[in-house]
Amino acid sequence: MKNSWVNQAIAIIEADYQRSADTHLIKLDIPSLAGIDIYLKDESTHPTGSLKHRLARSLFLYALCNGWINERTSVIESSSGSTAVSEAYFARLLGLPFIAVMPRSTAKKKVQQIEFYGGRCHFVDHSSEIYAESERLATELDGHYMDQFTYAERATDWRGNNNIANSIFEQMAKEPHPIPQWIVMSPGTGGTSATIGRYIRYQQLETQLCVVDPENSVFFDYFTQGDSKITSTKGSKIEGIGRPRAEPSFIPGVIDHMEKIDDTASIATMYWLEQLIGRKAGPSTGTNLYGVLMLASKMHAEGRKGSLVTLLCDSGERYLDTYYNNEWIDSNIGDLQAYQKSLENLSQTGQLL
Ligand SMILES: *Cc1c(COP(=O)(O)O)cnc(C)c1O
Repeated sequence: MKNSWVNQAIAIIEADYQRSADTHLIKLDIPSLAGIDIYLKDESTHPTGSLKHRLARSLFLYALCNGWINERTSVIESSSGSTAVSEAYFARLLGLPFIAVMPRSTAKKKVQQIEFYGGRCHFVDHSSEIYAESERLATELDGHYMDQFTYAERATDWRGNNNIANSIFEQMAKEPHPIPQWIVMSPGTGGTSATIGRYIRYQQLETQLCVVDPENSVFFDYFTQGDSKITSTKGSKIEGIGRPRAEPSFIPGVIDHMEKIDDTASIATMYWLEQLIGRKAGPSTGTNLYGVLMLASKMHAEGRKGSLVTLLCDSGERYLDTYYNNEWIDSNIGDLQAYQKSLENLSQTGQLL
């Protein structure tokens, strides 16, 4: 039979998908924002713990259908961790060797999980080195460099097919404001915001897409100034998002608005969310939610009602020794007090300070 290994590999991934459930949409309870409803799509409940489970599945299917992977292919990926965890899962499902090229600073829990799924971790000192090192390894091993930063936007089915945007709008159907005023997302590859933005256009919806960028990332500068060659020498301190170059999967034309979010705001919001839902989320969820709260605070001031949706990208349990460790925060992120006061004010009055 033609390409029988490839056929089997696709069937294995499709069966895994068939066994999977969709992720929940969590509604926040914030009495000070009466009439403004905020929702989090909880991507931490995928088998590999983050929204990258969707991406890894799509990247493997794309590579298989393109004839880029066969039963002897070593799969190599450049990653800040989450994608590599999810790809290690799918590589093991297919019986393929997997190597993750990551910054040395990547959360230990992610490294352990990659190794748990049988993957190997290959470290570089700076996040800007992961691309060239992945290419070098792929050539040396005659393997395939998956390259999430290039292929995320095109490997994902943006018209529908149960993608994340499709799922959000279906889950919103019975809410008081079923069509969100805003969807807010932070970019790592930019693939998720590209998928959501394209879906909104394609469905001709009124929803606007706001993308929130952390410190030391160039996506915001690229969006506002249009220079795709812009680079940063410092890496993002918010794991999973913010890049030192404008990644090819980041599509500025589908974005309505962008905000730059201070790292101290992201972390203060991550803690604020824990108080609200009794669960720990990762730092990029703090970035997302702070962006939502900025927009909601403005809507509140203008007396408008409506809904806003963002993503809970991964769980905070991965970051107990870093973002949930006060000493680490003191020396790596800084003083959170100003934003904690601002968030407290929002809880009381519906307004950020
Ligand atoms: C990848 C990632 C993001 C950003 O998603 P993209 O689709 O790559 O832009 C946000 N948060 C976490 C934890 C991630 O791993």
